[in-house]
This record gives sequence, C-alpha cells and structure tokens, in this order.
Amino acid sequence: MKTFLFTLILFVSTAAFARLNVAVSYPYIGAITKAVGADKVDVTVLAKGNWDPHFVVARPSLISKLRRSDALIINGAQLEIGWIPPLIKRANNRNILPGTKGFLDLSASIEMIQKPSSVSRAGGDVHPDGNPHFHLAPQNILILARSVTAFLSTLDPLNRDSFEQNLQDFELLWTKEMLKWAATMASAKNRKVIEYHQNFDYFLQAYDIKGIATIEPLPGIPPSSRHTMELIDTIKTQKPCCIIHDVYHSTKTATYLHDKTGIKVVIMPHDIGALDSIESLSQLFDYLTSKFP
Ligand SMILES: [Zn+2]
Repeated sequence: MKTFLFTLILFVSTAAFARLNVAVSYPYIGAITKAVGADKVDVTVLAKGNWDPHFVVARPSLISKLRRSDALIINGAQLEIGWIPPLIKRANNRNILPGTKGFLDLSASIEMIQKPSSVSRAGGDVHPDGNPHFHLAPQNILILARSVTAFLSTLDPLNRDSFEQNLQDFELLWTKEMLKWAATMASAKNRKVIEYHQNFDYFLQAYDIKGIATIEPLPGIPPSSRHTMELIDTIKTQKPCCIIHDVYHSTKTATYLHDKTGIKVVIMPHDIGALDSIESLSQLFDYLTSKFP
C-alpha cells in the first residue's frame, strides 16, 4: 500500500510538473506561446525568421522535432501549405494531427483581408484564403495570444490559472506598447507605399497607410518587365513614399525602380529573427514603426 501511494504521488507530481512540448511554425508564434506558457511550456520553433514563410524546406531535422511534440500551432490560411502537411505526415505523431485537441490553426480566430471571392488561385499563387500575414497588425497579436491561452488551457488544465495570469500581464504590456507605436505612426497616416509582396498589409491597415501596388504582379508571382514598367508610371503619378521590402526576396527590381524614379527602398523585417537585431515581438514592432519612412 505504501509503495502504491508513493508511486501514485510520484505519478501525480510528475504529471503536474511535466512541461508541454509545443511546436510552432514561425518565431512570432513561439514568442506568443512563451509569453503565455512561460515556465510551463517548452517551445520549438520550426522555421527561421529570415526564411520566406511560404517556402520552408521540410527537412528531416524538422520531422524529428515534430515527432517529439505534444502540440502544434500554425499560422494557417495556407501559409504553411507547402511544408507543414508533409512534415505532419512524416512525423507520424497522433498528438499533433489537424482536427485533434493538440493542433491549433491561428487563422481561425482572425478576420482575414483580401479574401478572394472565387475559390481559385487566380488572385495569386500563395494567398488562396486571403492574406495570411495577419500577425503584423499589433491588435491581432492580442487576439492570437487569447487563442493560444485557450489552447494551452485545454491541453494542460492544471495550469490554466498560470496561463490566464501570463495573458493578463502580456495584454497590459502589449496595450502600452500599442499606444507608443500608434503615436510614432500618427504622422504616417494616408502615406502611400509599394511593397514587394503583401507582407505588410495588416500593418499598413493598422496605421491607415495605403499600399498602392506590389512589385509582384500577384502574390507569389515574380516581377515581370511589363508590370515593372507600369510601376514606374504608378510611382511617377501617385508619388508613394517608398518601397517596403521583405528580407528574403531579391531587391533587384526594387533597386531598378529606385534607379529609374529615385524612390526610397526600405528593408523591413516580417518576423523575429528576420534581422539579427530583432529578438522579440516588441522589437519587431519597434523596428517597423521607428524605421517607417
Ligand atoms: Zn504571402
């Protein structure tokens, strides 16, 4: 009886202190999950922040990371369509299967913009469900943090109070940061910009900035000379302030447009780690707001 009780206590205490091993697709999800999960959760980030989020290589090291996970959180809206489904298939881990309680698709909690009216890829190759880069609106980070909190609480109900408390602390901090960023961005209102890809549309929308064109003719379609010539006209007539460029596409066309029109080209990070100096979510938005031309 004594041995049984001892074993039972040991089992219960181990269960109480076992940390959830949560895999996430992108660094920004890792940061939200760490903020809410804190010391109760181990987070494994699959993709690096300076990679093109649409085209991650499903390498074997990522399969073994997924094999060990208790849960998986993805961005969704088909951003990971080329790499997460093959990884899940090869990881052969029942804990993280879509539709189970160990799988969270963040896009389900977000009001998406640029949703195509027809179910085809005619609006571009990589955004068939609408624009999936919703984490770049700071107010969406709060929605995502609540979604992650509910998810972790379902997986680990014993630590629900801790997750809820961490969420409250995060919300307080983030709301203060949002006021600071809004103040910094007030003078940029109604400015016009060109992007390489529609990476920053949620960010632009958050601060009433107009994205008037992209260097890609359609999402995921590389620049063509005809479209580039049209852009030169757009720049001359509409006078956008700048080209906002991601870190992972070639700046060849942007440089060409700069040479032809004098337009400023600004490299902007889309995630933590996109630039070496960006190590947190706050630093990401500090950078985006302070470097915005
Ligand atoms: Zn995209």
